[in-house]
Amino acid sequence: MQSKPQVMTEPAEIFDAVRQAKAARRRVGLVPTMGALHAGHLSLVEKSRAACDVTIVTIFVNPTQFGPGEDYGEYPRTLNADAEKLAPAGADYVFAPRGDAIYRPGHSTYVEPPQVARLLEGQQRPGHFRGVTTVVLKLFHLIPADIAFFGQKDYQQSLVIRRMAADLDVPIEIRICPTIREADGLAMSSRNAYLSSDQRRQALAISEALHKARALRAAGEKQASSILDAMRTILVQSGIEEIDYMALADPQTLENRDQLDEPAIALIAAHVGQTRLIDNLRIE
Ligand code: AMP
Repeated sequence: MQSKPQVMTEPAEIFDAVRQAKAARRRVGLVPTMGALHAGHLSLVEKSRAACDVTIVTIFVNPTQFGPGEDYGEYPRTLNADAEKLAPAGADYVFAPRGDAIYRPGHSTYVEPPQVARLLEGQQRPGHFRGVTTVVLKLFHLIPADIAFFGQKDYQQSLVIRRMAADLDVPIEIRICPTIREADGLAMSSRNAYLSSDQRRQALAISEALHKARALRAAGEKQASSILDAMRTILVQSGIEEIDYMALADPQTLENRDQLDEPAIALIAAHVGQTRLIDNLRIE
């Protein structure tokens, strides 16, 4: 039985813990999250435990990545339950700062996100990746880990962070880990907690549409427009009315592909009731 992770709220405290770990030549893994932890997050902790000596999970609902009218206020905040889940997972430290410890009075400096942030989520959620890159770079400074672990679930975010780390010479390896799904295929997400049981059934159409894209390509269909039509049909038939985007794109640049001669990434963002969900799947 693992003991509970040590919870720290002060930036200086966690910085010091990392400094000591590194002085002792221990490899440090970082798993940044917004909390409301589920098996997807815990899989990142597992990867960190396998590769590093010390694992730090950060829990911070970052205000600067939410737009006006988004769910910043409602986002589930479950620190005690999260710490309980992290004990068996074997995390060593939880860094759960207060908002004003990260954005101190007078804060006005932001990261300008890379090119790949402009498409898809960047179009739907202006300012989102500016908030993400800013908070992640701040976390990278406070917790100068050896490896930082992110999920493929947020595919575009993983590209944005990789690019930012390379462009700004961040000496931390970025590892992208597979999406963890419910048994029926729904990608795990803290926002799934918002869904009613009917909406939970509807939400399944998102992963079904992505798997349909993969199956059609495997059966020889290469035309993106035909595949996108089939994906749309699945979403609409399930009752999903508001689709922010569906894309078959280059896995690195996220530019749309018309013909799937090379591997692509299929991405969907759609609203199920009031809940906005995203998911993606590689199409080889
Ligand atoms: P979040 O708390 O939603 O900001 O996510 C924190 C980290 O967990 C990000 O790197 C996400 O990509 C990752 N993550 C979220 N959901 C999943 C999932 N279902 N499978 C794998 N990683 C995930």
